[in-house]
Amino acid sequence: MELWYTEEHTPSVRFSIKVKEQILSAQSPFQRIDVFDSEEFGRFLTLDGLMMLTEKDEFIYHEMITHVPMATNPGVKNVLVIGGGDGGTVRELTRYGSIKRIDMVDIDEMVVDVCRKHLPFTSGGLGDPRVSLYFEDGLRYVRRFEGEYDLIIVDSTDPFGPGEGLFTREFYGNCHKALTDDGILVNQHENPYYESYAGAMLRAHERIEEFFPVCRVYQAHIPTYPSGHWLFGFASKKYDPIDDPDGAAWDALGLDTRYYNTDLHDGAFKLPNYVKRALAGA
Ligand code: SAM
Repeated sequence: MELWYTEEHTPSVRFSIKVKEQILSAQSPFQRIDVFDSEEFGRFLTLDGLMMLTEKDEFIYHEMITHVPMATNPGVKNVLVIGGGDGGTVRELTRYGSIKRIDMVDIDEMVVDVCRKHLPFTSGGLGDPRVSLYFEDGLRYVRRFEGEYDLIIVDSTDPFGPGEGLFTREFYGNCHKALTDDGILVNQHENPYYESYAGAMLRAHERIEEFFPVCRVYQAHIPTYPSGHWLFGFASKKYDPIDDPDGAAWDALGLDTRYYNTDLHDGAFKLPNYVKRALAGA
């Protein structure tokens, strides 16, 4: 008998992966958590039936959400990750000796426990002494800070279910307040291709633009996410990710990455016309 994981990307489009084994299925107070093993993508994590990461392509998402802001401001010392329960973003951040403190707030402790047990390739960095974990709604957590973080990375689920509040005006306003005067906010920005995701992306973009003087969008190719074309939002009080990065300085750090490099950094901000037009209309 063959076992397949199937995800609906739209009501008339499905994406399937042949599964070797279902490793875990659990219901937390917030969402359904599943871990599978597969021939093509290795282990993968889904929440409420939506793909979060696979062993084979997670490096693309985690490198792009981390190294783009870190190359833009190498002076970042205090970082907040909102969501990110699999630990992949924290793993990339821990590669910078210059970072002093990494706080991660995920609403669901069970996701972190599951990833620690079954996905060591992403969760390995969570034990770093600079990392503190908080289990709370990110929307609530961020309200209490003023000028605290140099970088906030929103590594959330989609804007349905527990992640919904992380796409609101209130949330972006509070992130702005929690950032230092030269702070940067990066968030996963959904895909521009399918209408329902593109709508969420445009609403998020519009709201972020209300608070930040620098507001850009960059892209990556992530095979297991809907349409394979994924966007990230880059908002900042001061640094421009196109003009400010010093590529030679980042290269001198000698970080061995598999996707990100400083040539690709510039290219990632060069968007297709249909995305540019959609953003211009936002
Ligand atoms: N790379 C992924 C993606 O874009 O599909 C995101 C992965 S990460 C596992 C998403 C995390 O966000 C989950 O662990 C989930 O529990 C967390 N999350 C969802 N809503 C949240 C909220 N309101 N506050 C904090 N964390 C939240």
